[in-house]
Amino acid sequence: MQEQNSKIKNQISSSISRGKLVHAYAFTGGTAQQREELGMWLCQTLFCEAEDKPCGECLPCRKFLHGNHEDFIVVKKPQDRESIVKDQILDLTDRLMLKPFGRRYAVVIEDAQLMNTAAQNKLLKTLEEPASEAVIVLLSDRREALLPTVLSRCVCFSLTNEASSFREEAAAGKLAGLIMIGAPFYKKKAVLEDILRDKDDARARAEDLLNALEARLMALLKEEKMRSVETSADTVSRLQRAVKAVLEARKHIRQLHSVAYTLKQLCLRV
Ligand SMILES: [Zn+2]
Repeated sequence: MQEQNSKIKNQISSSISRGKLVHAYAFTGGTAQQREELGMWLCQTLFCEAEDKPCGECLPCRKFLHGNHEDFIVVKKPQDRESIVKDQILDLTDRLMLKPFGRRYAVVIEDAQLMNTAAQNKLLKTLEEPASEAVIVLLSDRREALLPTVLSRCVCFSLTNEASSFREEAAAGKLAGLIMIGAPFYKKKAVLEDILRDKDDARARAEDLLNALEARLMALLKEEKMRSVETSADTVSRLQRAVKAVLEARKHIRQLHSVAYTLKQLCLRV
């Protein structure tokens, strides 16, 4: 995770030092901590006046680290609301019309997946006609929650939670084995209990699981097809059905259908 962040930082640093600053970045996936670390690092880097950014010592860096940099703006969901609403984005664009105190504004939109469509469309206008002195950084737990039009205006970095992908890999392996032998519903569902109980990351984890499961099934299918025909015809068609069901489930997860319902349907169908 740390390694992944370092790689991304190096990539951004080198593009900034080549003068390739863009107006919007998106960090999606991974953990909340990972996204926040990248978002804060990028904003500090944008403010820093030293050669080796972020230095942590120049005046803008110190202001930023003390939480009182005048040009640093954070947009987040108000406590009494369910989403980030259009008015908040309107306030933001109004503010960006004013001259920044220093060289530029740096804006972080936390939990950008909570922006409703009206807010995202408003933001899109700003991204299309960027105020020359602003960089907007979107942090979102999943890429699919942002409109494709918004994403297309950003330089995007998709993060993976390596510890959890390992967990999902293991679950996918077990599940593929159960599918292969035609195990009953309750056994397959038992493998997914851990994901179903996860209140925060179920959707992202389900998607990781389905990706891993698809890869496993395809590998099994290939092996099975190489065996003698008469013993494996059943297994082959079972695996083919399973791959179809996995693709369908992934589509539903991305369309924000209920994770629990989608995964249970998958267990019933495979
Ligand atoms: Zn500095």
